[in-house]
Amino acid sequence: MPFKFAKRMSNLGRSEIREILKLTARPEVISFAGGLPAPELFPIEEIKDVTNSLLDEYGQQVLQYSTTEGFEPFREMIAKRMNDKFCTDVGASDITVLSGSQQALDFAGKMFIDEGDVVLLESPSYMGALNAFKPYGPKYIEIPMDEEGLIPEELEKVLKTTDRIKFLYLIPDFQNPTGRTLSLERRKKLMRIVTEYELPVIEDNPYGELRFVGERLPALKSMDPKGLVIYHGTFSKIFTPGLRLGWVAANPEILDRFVIIKQASDLHTSEFTQRIAYEYMKKYNIDDHVENIIKLYKKRREVIIKAMQEEFPPNVHFTRPEGGLFLWVTLPENVDGVKLLEKCLEENVAFVPGQSFYPNSSKKNTMRINFSNMNEDKISEGIKRLAKVMKAQM
Ligand code: PMP
Repeated sequence: MPFKFAKRMSNLGRSEIREILKLTARPEVISFAGGLPAPELFPIEEIKDVTNSLLDEYGQQVLQYSTTEGFEPFREMIAKRMNDKFCTDVGASDITVLSGSQQALDFAGKMFIDEGDVVLLESPSYMGALNAFKPYGPKYIEIPMDEEGLIPEELEKVLKTTDRIKFLYLIPDFQNPTGRTLSLERRKKLMRIVTEYELPVIEDNPYGELRFVGERLPALKSMDPKGLVIYHGTFSKIFTPGLRLGWVAANPEILDRFVIIKQASDLHTSEFTQRIAYEYMKKYNIDDHVENIIKLYKKRREVIIKAMQEEFPPNVHFTRPEGGLFLWVTLPENVDGVKLLEKCLEENVAFVPGQSFYPNSSKKNTMRINFSNMNEDKISEGIKRLAKVMKAQM
């Protein structure tokens, strides 16, 4: 071929698992593999309503180019919601609107990572973050977790012995993929260490508002005297992912760089979709909408946990997340998640094998299960099928 691709493309292989997961799109497959919100809760009529009046009243404005930072009153609203929910103290000027929080991951990679720099992350971590940083050539170091999330002492050990660390990436609330939440105690300990070592932290929080049980916890950004935390937020799980609306909240030095990179990348996030979300939040109560999402996912979580308790063999363990979209299953050591998936597809049920979420250690005996996207009958039937294959394989 005449194409001479950039060296960074060699960092981006096609994944074998992605190829297998394509098969989960068949309609007969009950798939726990995706990470999609429940589409039946998208506020379609309300979006139609605000879109019509937006076009009638401000058509020429909202369809025009606009500022890179984002629509100021919308940023104001985002800041206020963040402060209300997660105890932060940010204003519109601390926020830049992005085209989904996935964009924030790419931009952070571009901003910080030179080939061979070290990125620290939870073990396991979000596959989309691993893939976003990868083109910039980082070396990943996995920090162990337990049921309370990342273990701060393990982080400190690495900080003491490692050069060229650029940042720590973590998802403190209802983590993707494990569903685990960093406890309050750990948040404090972690932020003490981070502050002492002046370690930049990316706090990715797409799921924090979707808490089914227990008390909401303060964001790491609210415990950050040195301005080291770069907070990523998104409307994907509380409104709709299709509008591609996310944001970053960070100190001015970092935010400036996000704006410079964004200018060069896509100029700005769609003014139209920003204004749709803004008008929606002005006219309707998004907190009521989030409550409805929580109610539905909470029910689905109960159904899936009950089904797993009844159907799974006793030596299969799983997390009981207090919120979010995922739970994490640990199989006996000798069971390979990829092989199990291949067998499961013969029975028309799917999940994501856990090994995709480990950049280095590739633990094979784990799986990520999504419970937000399917109705309760399908969940129960899917878990029965999954358990049947497990029992046959083990
Ligand atoms: N971070 C995490 C942890 C995610 O799970 C996701 C999406 N599933 C994203 C970021 C990206 O979300 P979005 O671009 O839709 O805001």
